[in-house]
Amino acid sequence: MSKDEVKPRERVRFFQSLAFKLSLAIFVVASSMLSWLGIYYMNRFYEVIDWQLRSNAQVPAKMIRSHDLPIEITRDNVVLSKLTRSKVLCSIVLNPDGVVAYSSEPGLEGNVSDARVTYTNQANIIWNKNRSVSSAYTHIDGEPRVMLTMPIWDHSHQPFRWYLLVDGYRIGKDRAWVARLFLVGFLICIFLISIICAGIAHWMLRPRLKRISECLENVESGDLTPVVQRVRSTDELGVLGRGVNAMISRLSDQRSEERRLLKELKSAKDAAENANRTKSEFLANMSHEIRTPMNGVLGMAQLIRGTELSEEQREYVETISSSANNLLRIINSILDLTRVEMGKYDLNIGTVDIRKMIKELETFFTPLAVENGLDLQVACPDTLHIVRTDEGLIRQVLINLLGNAVKFTQKGHIGLAVESVEQHGNECTLTFVVSDTGIGISGEAQSLIFKEFTQVDGSHTRAFGGTGLGLSISKKMVEQLGGKLSVQSQEGKGSVFSFSITANLDAFSAPASEPQPKEEEPAENLNLDILVVEDNKLNQKVLSKMLEKMGCRIVLAENGKEALRQLKLILPIEERPVFDIILMDIQMPVMDGLKATAMIRAQEGDERRTPIVAITAHAMKGDREKFLEQGMDGYLSKPVRRDDLRNQLIQYG
Ligand code: ADP
Repeated sequence: MSKDEVKPRERVRFFQSLAFKLSLAIFVVASSMLSWLGIYYMNRFYEVIDWQLRSNAQVPAKMIRSHDLPIEITRDNVVLSKLTRSKVLCSIVLNPDGVVAYSSEPGLEGNVSDARVTYTNQANIIWNKNRSVSSAYTHIDGEPRVMLTMPIWDHSHQPFRWYLLVDGYRIGKDRAWVARLFLVGFLICIFLISIICAGIAHWMLRPRLKRISECLENVESGDLTPVVQRVRSTDELGVLGRGVNAMISRLSDQRSEERRLLKELKSAKDAAENANRTKSEFLANMSHEIRTPMNGVLGMAQLIRGTELSEEQREYVETISSSANNLLRIINSILDLTRVEMGKYDLNIGTVDIRKMIKELETFFTPLAVENGLDLQVACPDTLHIVRTDEGLIRQVLINLLGNAVKFTQKGHIGLAVESVEQHGNECTLTFVVSDTGIGISGEAQSLIFKEFTQVDGSHTRAFGGTGLGLSISKKMVEQLGGKLSVQSQEGKGSVFSFSITANLDAFSAPASEPQPKEEEPAENLNLDILVVEDNKLNQKVLSKMLEKMGCRIVLAENGKEALRQLKLILPIEERPVFDIILMDIQMPVMDGLKATAMIRAQEGDERRTPIVAITAHAMKGDREKFLEQGMDGYLSKPVRRDDLRNQLIQYG
């Protein structure tokens, strides 16, 4: 559940409440105690009823013993009923030998055992030797009866035992009445106890528990301000309430601390991002600054190579060239990385003939592979479509991967394969695979190699060279193209790097099923008039030499202002000098290339528009648009390659 969502308040039903459970417990204890008491007192009442019966039965016995009545009276049930206040049904007096001396039942007197057996068995009476009256309740023929037995004496003081059988109906009624009374009393007491217990428990617990639960609910919904009120009591609820309050205050402290840390974290993150941005900018500027003189060094070395040289001089020039190229590669890598990191990599989408690009890479890498004793296997279907994507990025990623493949493979082969995996409408997915049978990469190292400046093994670094930047740049470049660079490798067996990108099909190009005819090499003599606007002397020299070799005539200008002067834009059109193309540096003192271009475009008029090609070491995101907006037609990046320069001259000149 999200923090902001408010949970509906939970309602506790009365029958589930703690108060109810407590009352139930009290009720069970109280009712069992009451039942026990009730049974005890009910028995006491029964005893009183019995005692009453026995006392009444003693009246004629006492009168006989005191000779107020003759013993023969024991034969008269009616008199006995009146004297005992109970309905006497039968009276038998036995002498100590068990012979019936007197009986209200005719025919029993003189009989020894029968009467005794009859009554004793029926009533289950044991001969009672003491003088007291005993009573026993029974049923005879389904009727309630009480057998009373007591000692009596006749005038000769002969001891007898007197058995009186009385109707138990009234006594039974009395007993039932007592039982009912107790039951009703018991139920009323239980009811009252339950109500009182529930009320007391409810009154004592509910408000306090409610305060605590409300507080906890607020805490749960993220509000840490409320506290449990009135928690001074020393019972468990008091302890609980104080505990909840302490917990809320700890939570609130923690939250403040959390907020403080978050704030610190955010400012640290901002500072780190700023530092990173500054670093990237510094690196970009530095690489740019280094690239400009490097342009001169490489260009001059290129020119020297074209002159008459001794073997020794040629060797020196080759060393200068290769060292400068290595340095330039590193600088380019750093510049690429900083551009990608700063999100300034400008996607240059154009029409790309993948087959042609793969062929060029094959041509480029075959000598290198052969030199290393490797076989370069290239697989690219003839039916590959011409697509619209950033050729430069794909080319650079493949160069990085193939460079690594050659570098880390001692024997066997390296492979470059392209396949068109899927085609949906106007889109197709292209998969590029670079494989090798080299040293391979352990599973652990595979997760590290895409990080900047990471190399698997220091000894390899020494053996193979490198900066540990290639894969991280390639990964970011593939991501810019909407793909993901992945690796599968086994140590000692080789590696397979692959990535897929989705590109639009070029609407005007059919699948390149037939090998494209080789383009005619353009004639070297271009015969163009060119205005070169460049402040750096070395670059001026390099460009001039290159252009001269292409058969072009050159006019030099040191900066934008100088260029305007050379163009003589204030004169009528027919009197102005004619240039086929202007090569314009961007960063220059006095007036930079962008400003100069804007002024040229404003003044030259529509009749004669001279193409302007920017020469820049900047290729940041948005630069291209900026150049075109200012009226430029194309751009060349420094250091200027002879082929690129020639292509631009052919295109615009
Ligand atoms: P480097 O300039 O050192 O080649 P990369 O980023 O291109 O930097 O590669 C990083 C590391 O990944 C390399 O130093 C190497 O250890 C490992 N690596 C890259 N490609 C391969 C490969 N084809 N075979 C074996 N190891 C490789």
